[in-house]
Amino acid sequence: MNILLTNDDGYGAPGLEALWSALREQGHTTFVVAPERERSAMGHAITLHKPLHVIQHQERAWAVSGTPVDCVKLALHALVPQPVELVVSGINRGANLGTDVYYSGTVSAAIEGLLQGVSAMAFSLAAEEQFEYEDAAWLSAWLVAVASRHEVGRRTLLNVNIPPLPRNEWRGVRVCELGVRHYQDVYDRRLDPRGHVYYWLGGAAEEVDNPPGSDVELVAQGYVAVTPLRVDLTHADDLQRMAGWHLQLPRVTPRAGRTGQR
Ligand code: MN
Repeated sequence: MNILLTNDDGYGAPGLEALWSALREQGHTTFVVAPERERSAMGHAITLHKPLHVIQHQERAWAVSGTPVDCVKLALHALVPQPVELVVSGINRGANLGTDVYYSGTVSAAIEGLLQGVSAMAFSLAAEEQFEYEDAAWLSAWLVAVASRHEVGRRTLLNVNIPPLPRNEWRGVRVCELGVRHYQDVYDRRLDPRGHVYYWLGGAAEEVDNPPGSDVELVAQGYVAVTPLRVDLTHADDLQRMAGWHLQLPRVTPRAGRTGQR
């Protein structure tokens, strides 16, 4: 398969390197287009008001001065000379569970693949301190193969979180829903050397009640969590309920000084 590999931890990050070799070992033609430095928590940001600089490191590998989504767009429309069949993002340093997906550059890169009509998978190692990517990379390459056998199709996006355990201690692989991740959102108020106030966001993830079948809970129990995502944010139930709203504009008289003629 022709695979585009990207991440948000930056070109040369160990999670990307491990996944790159695992995909090559599976015989995939892998193109790497990744941010030149860490761009975690960029969400779906793109760069419009300054140029994107590109450094080609190998025949099929580039580092870009932009965000993860910039990398996917640039790869598909300018850099990769062959049709891409799958966008793979990761392996991220840290979990992208539940509501994390709204902030994650890793997941956003995969979403961009989907928006461009290419199926995509995002992989994250749900560790906090020790990051051993070898088993996670092995698992990721295996899931790429499994997904391709099931004709993942052109509209599928899989978000995968891997527990921070050696592979013989994983309890299994579960297809599951997103949970909720809540952070303390502590803004540290500080003074710069000139006496101006600035704030710095910190705060760890908090324990919140999650359904037992959610990705948050399953990864905590030692399962690999695989969640199919879609990008339509339309609230289908409210769409129905709002059908009864009276949205006919009130009759108004023209404002003074305006003739209404063009
Ligand atoms: Mn990251």
